Amino acid sequence: MTDKLVTIAEIEKARDALAGKVVHTPTVNSVSLSEMTGLPVFLKLEHHQTTGSFKLRGASNALSRLSTSEKQRGVVAASTGNHGRALAYAAHLEGVRAIICMSRLVPQNKVDEIRRLGAEIRIIGKSQDDAQEEVDRLVQESGLTMVPPFDNASIIAGQGTLGLEIIDAVPDVDTVLVPVSGGGLASGVAAAVKAKRSAAKIIGISMDRGAAMRASLDAGKPVLVEESESLADSLGGGIGIDNRFTFAMVRDLLDDLILLSEDEIAAGMAHAYMHEREIIEGAAAVGIGALLAGKIRAKGPVVAILSGRNVDMNQHRRIVCADINERAKPCPA
Ligand SMILES: *Cc1c(COP(=O)(O)O)cnc(C)c1O
Repeated sequence: MTDKLVTIAEIEKARDALAGKVVHTPTVNSVSLSEMTGLPVFLKLEHHQTTGSFKLRGASNALSRLSTSEKQRGVVAASTGNHGRALAYAAHLEGVRAIICMSRLVPQNKVDEIRRLGAEIRIIGKSQDDAQEEVDRLVQESGLTMVPPFDNASIIAGQGTLGLEIIDAVPDVDTVLVPVSGGGLASGVAAAVKAKRSAAKIIGISMDRGAAMRASLDAGKPVLVEESESLADSLGGGIGIDNRFTFAMVRDLLDDLILLSEDEIAAGMAHAYMHEREIIEGAAAVGIGALLAGKIRAKGPVVAILSGRNVDMNQHRRIVCADINERAKPCPA
């Protein structure tokens, strides 16, 4: 199994490759959460990363590892979310052609945004599976390189650079709270943090609606789950039945993987806005949400990763409004 784990050497190499290409985001003390928990709590403000999420780290690192001829042919992906945004931007910066495939059901504003970041868009079919078939075709017929969102050594190593920054900012960190979907972020962060500080604990957090990694850990192997809508939309999706890296890394390196309800996620978003003046998406709010819900037992400094900020602002406004009203009064649409 050890050959499937991404090493600290690969993560340190990624840090060198990313220097000057990604923002070294701040880690700040949270007065409100420290007071509430009685522990030093820090927030890693990764939602201020270029393109609005940590996904730029993995995408940039994956691009840096391509050969010259692979760069000349270009890259392709099916993600319409933060990975698609990050890959579009990173490829544009490197002068590499990027094609993002998406179905006709993807909202126009998402399509426009990814095009604006510099990618070519290919609209195909009616589902994510149709879009993925087009990706496979482009890989086969045009020799483009598929850059997957999480289950890839270069992606994991890139996300792991965030863990190195946490260790630099809080060398005595006791517990890191990390959002988990496919597990690329958690795998990289856990590998980096535990290599530098073996006593540190890594707690993964997912939403309780269709948490594929949690279900897979319970089953002892990657399994499919039914997807449902969540405030933490960036945490949706499976881990892949043929998962090669992140299932084993999460299983071996994380100390726990806990689940949050929609209300707990909403409370995290509202707290970030009202007490920290930070606008974050649902996926990024799970660390704060878990602390507010009293679901984290920790000794020393806690670091919560705020992983992204690509939220619909009307949805964000309704969540904050509902929180202020304690859900008593209806909020304006
Ligand atoms: C992708 C994403 C995650 C989850 O990352 P994985 O590597 O898939 O576990 C968490 N938060 C945000 C904002 C994301 O875009």
